[in-house]
Amino acid sequence: MKTLLNCPSIIHDPPHVLQDIIHGHSMPPKHFRLEVDFDGIAWITFDSPKSSANVWNEETLREFNHLLELLEHDTRVRALVLRSAKDRIFIAGADIKAIRHMQHVRVNDLIWLGQAVFDRLARLKIVKVAAIHGACMGGGFEVTLACDWRIASDSDCTKIGLPETQLGILPAWGGSTRLSRLIGLRKALDLITTGKLLKASEAKRKGLVSHVVAPERLETLARRLTREKPKAPRVGFENLFSSIIGHLAKRKAQEKTRGLYPSVTKAVDVVTHAVHGDIEHGLLLERTAVAELIKGRDSSRLIDLFFKREEAGKRPAEGGTALPIHDATVIGAGVMGSGIAHTLASRGVRVLMTDVSNDSLARGLERIHGLVSDATRRRLITKVQARDTLDHISTTHVPVPLNRHHLIIEAATESMSLKKKIFADLAMRVSADTILATNTSALSVSDLAKTVPHPERVIGLHFFNPVHRMPLVEIITLPETSPDVLATVVGFVQKLGKTPVVVKDSPGFLVNRILVPYLMEAVRLHESGIPVKDIDEAMLEFGMPMGPMRLLDEIGLDVAAHVAKTLADAFPDRFPHTDALDKRVAAGHLGKKTGQGFYRYEKGHEVADTTHSDLPRHESIQTNLALLISQEAMRCLKEGIARNADDIDLAMVLGTGYPPFRGGPITFARDTGIIDY
Ligand code: NAD
Repeated sequence: MKTLLNCPSIIHDPPHVLQDIIHGHSMPPKHFRLEVDFDGIAWITFDSPKSSANVWNEETLREFNHLLELLEHDTRVRALVLRSAKDRIFIAGADIKAIRHMQHVRVNDLIWLGQAVFDRLARLKIVKVAAIHGACMGGGFEVTLACDWRIASDSDCTKIGLPETQLGILPAWGGSTRLSRLIGLRKALDLITTGKLLKASEAKRKGLVSHVVAPERLETLARRLTREKPKAPRVGFENLFSSIIGHLAKRKAQEKTRGLYPSVTKAVDVVTHAVHGDIEHGLLLERTAVAELIKGRDSSRLIDLFFKREEAGKRPAEGGTALPIHDATVIGAGVMGSGIAHTLASRGVRVLMTDVSNDSLARGLERIHGLVSDATRRRLITKVQARDTLDHISTTHVPVPLNRHHLIIEAATESMSLKKKIFADLAMRVSADTILATNTSALSVSDLAKTVPHPERVIGLHFFNPVHRMPLVEIITLPETSPDVLATVVGFVQKLGKTPVVVKDSPGFLVNRILVPYLMEAVRLHESGIPVKDIDEAMLEFGMPMGPMRLLDEIGLDVAAHVAKTLADAFPDRFPHTDALDKRVAAGHLGKKTGQGFYRYEKGHEVADTTHSDLPRHESIQTNLALLISQEAMRCLKEGIARNADDIDLAMVLGTGYPPFRGGPITFARDTGIIDY
């Protein structure tokens, strides 16, 4: 029988790592435990020492390979169960940290190694069960695809998927080849091109795993399944129509990514072609494609961003002690207040939401109910979690003692006089260590802090709209901000699953400051006669998720005009005031919410714009607007608004959808040389 190790395409020029596999490895494993029980089941437990995660790298792959070699020769063993000893991680995938600094030739070697080891597992002639509890991503899921059974725990930390395309590469340890054989081409293409991570219940629905049970029942079920014949995959005939399915998937990917993400288009090709022929053919396609992708700059920028985000999501603020926050008050039940209350409650924080009237509270609660039932309908949360979230929220429209709460987040109407009144009143009703945060988009946090006796406890906590989707929170600090307050708020934002970026109090803070000159220049271009569609198209081609004119309509022209005025007042030489927005606002054209802005909307949908699109002009519009973003980002860096370039890049990607494959506006400026770095 042909195996990967004697497959002609591979043995032709085996990399040095394969030589070791062929000749064995005899050191005792550091990362795995192998126990064979009385029933002939070999339990392989992945448990990397001194680490909360299990990952695949050269060392762990070699050790695993050695265990497989032992099992091949052990006649006592009739089945294998692969599991993890970690609390929240099954296998997190490949060791991206190590790969990041590897030369391309070594990455290629590692791809060969992983393919060979997982192929060996697939060919092992005993029943193989993967018992998944915790994150099972990328290579972590690919190893399970070489097993006969995949079962998962119903824990919240269990997440399954192949996110490689989001890092500019594709699954190349058999994932692009084996997944379509398990769940069918269409679903495989969807999972691989979007990089979605699925909860266990969703993974079962899609056929990635066969059973979902409580974590404590995983072992018993695994034991039972070693005696059962695996079910035939639910693929049907669809893989026979791969050329049509592949063609449609490619068209969809092209529409969505405009060809800016080569990993996605390449993944469609590989997955579609790997459906036919033997596994080795698919593995060869995977290797060839990934070798090409890692040579490009996109994957290294995407991987860098991934690490910047990981770090910002975990790094504690220096110099202070973070206190846990279990209770919070949210002032204002509007769009933002209700969104913030919902996010906090869904993460187990008890929230008191206040507003001036019962009617406003009722509208806020209705929005929260809408979010919860939508998440339940889409099976993102269970009915129990939905009830739990709602149970964590209480409301009041009359003043109540607030001294029990450690954090107050003010999200009332954007007006300095109103917010000052609210802060002055709060100062008298909260305890000595309560943190007072404001969600203002553009008002001075320093001015607000002047209204309270303890300005060191005042901070800006700028969530983005819609709160449940937007991953970024700007934390606005003052020179007086206490290190403990900052540490507590940073930790709190991280606990919410959001990414905090700490910035100085300055008009527009960071994201709006960088965005406004770009949006205002887009308005100026339009005023000079360029159709809105041309401006938007140019920036969609640059990779922005939405063009600037459409974005202005979404934000609301009144809100945008207010932020633009704040910045024009602060920096009159660079942000000259224009009345282009004011005129539209005066005419009642506030954007999508009034059915008319730069576009016209009917029933919430943009009415098709037939204005001729002048394509050759796109490049100059793009260069002009992209330059403005990078210039303002550089100014923020020089003025110390953010701590470093990484934070600015990250904030713009997470807060505005700045194209991740470009790495952020500072990386873009550096890589293209459009401005001196
Ligand atoms: P909104 O108009 O939807 O809601 C404001 C709410 O505050 C209303 O329900 C109002 O009744 C209530 N309110 C007014 N006075 C109050 C008081 N004294 N006590 C309690 N509640 C009071 O506004 P929004 O869009 O939710 O914005 C709220 C804040 O968030 C503003 O500061 C805004 O700048 C900021 N923000 C908004 C967005 C956005 O996209 N909407 C994004 C980020 C930040």
